[in-house]
Amino acid sequence: CMFTSPLAQETLLAGEVALTVHTFDPANTSIERCVDQYIQYSDSLGIDDAFNIVDLGDVIRKCHLWREKLPRVEPFYAIKCNPDMGILQTLANMGIGFDCASKEEIASVLRLGVCPDRIVFAHTCKPKSHIIYAAQQQVKLTTFDNEPELHKIKRLYPAAQLLLRIRADDPMAVVNLGCKFGAHLPEAKRLLAIAQDLALNVIGVSFHVGSVCANPAAYAQAIAWSREVFDHAETLGMKLKVLDLGGGYPGHKGDPINFQQVVDEVKPALDKHFPPGCGVRLIAEPGRFFVASAMTLCLNITAKRVIEAEQRALNVEGPEFMYYVNDGVYGSFNCMEKDKAVIELKVPPQAGLSATLHCASLWGPTCDGLDCITASYYLPQMDIGHWLYLEDMGAYTNSASSGFNGFARPTMVYVAAQQDFAQVRPTSKPLAALAGPAAASNDGLPLDERYIVNERSLLRAGAFLRDQ
Ligand code: PLP
Repeated sequence: CMFTSPLAQETLLAGEVALTVHTFDPANTSIERCVDQYIQYSDSLGIDDAFNIVDLGDVIRKCHLWREKLPRVEPFYAIKCNPDMGILQTLANMGIGFDCASKEEIASVLRLGVCPDRIVFAHTCKPKSHIIYAAQQQVKLTTFDNEPELHKIKRLYPAAQLLLRIRADDPMAVVNLGCKFGAHLPEAKRLLAIAQDLALNVIGVSFHVGSVCANPAAYAQAIAWSREVFDHAETLGMKLKVLDLGGGYPGHKGDPINFQQVVDEVKPALDKHFPPGCGVRLIAEPGRFFVASAMTLCLNITAKRVIEAEQRALNVEGPEFMYYVNDGVYGSFNCMEKDKAVIELKVPPQAGLSATLHCASLWGPTCDGLDCITASYYLPQMDIGHWLYLEDMGAYTNSASSGFNGFARPTMVYVAAQQDFAQVRPTSKPLAALAGPAAASNDGLPLDERYIVNERSLLRAGAFLRDQ
């Protein structure tokens, strides 16, 4: 075992791959302790690779939080946010659906045994070959927001079930998506008529307020506009039956608004415009909500430069040390550029650290001068071989990282509290019992149908365990 007790090794079968998960009793182990232990393990073997502690228990608790706070809304996890297999399989085993943006994302979810009807192909401008693949795989639900896309779908997948994406962005969101996607209301109404002329099957409306929403009232506005589209469709004789509330739900500990503030806007707006019993299925595409807080990234200092006194004399406020670590802006830290992520470095207890803090700059491993994580940060004086870590590194980190300069992505180390992992561990219990009482059917579907997505993977997992 990589960890000393009290962590145990268990298996999560993700598709054909068996992943090791270290489970622990939260009464005597924490994520910080897992970080310390994996550092000790790496040091004992002379390994200096960066690694992520992936807390699958955190993902599982987010599933419960969503179902507790928004019980009428079925989440479809946006896998672009973090396509890690262990995370995907955990969510699949918890009965969550998936928002896929491409053929490859669809394939990776299907490989885990998820049924095609638990997938929304949420991209409004799809390559032809990806539409054909979706049709072959029976992934029916997809989005559109422009007329040429409708003609493409008519030719390639006329039986698709379509969600019309309207533009309803929060202008203050960190990542604006409205500049690229979504039809304004007049255009949306025109598109409905075109789809009707083409005899296409529009079944609902979707929107995305922008990623890292800063103004939760944007959701209430978007829901009201969606109602307008539903009402307009009715005047055309079309009966819409799905509303997709997109993503943007906060998931970091430090996001500008917290999930409860979003819930406080979304719930009353839904109750007003789409009350229980109205016959409309409510879904959403949260990404960062599920994963942002689940990953803790640990970096090793691989090189160090001391800024000489003469050089420093020009800028006494500037860094005294330059540290080079084994992940950077071409890797996990791409989130600083794309997501405006603010980093917070933590230093685990290690031998040989100075007590006083010194100004230092931190650099990624590539040969590019742009690969700077921070130009100025106060840290104890550190040496080659010392470790740093950062929490909240689960969203838009590994998904958009590159292998630039040949530097490998961090190793994934899965951990979970025992009682959390018990909910996704392969078991002979009936499928409906897997997600616990909090997962009571909230969308009118019988529970067995909701969890059937996992059947294939669980059967395989069962076979795998018997073979051990
Ligand atoms: N759905 C779509 C179509 C998206 O483009 C995105 C993110 O870009 C998401 C969902 C997930 O957004 P978030 O991670 O902010 O919840």
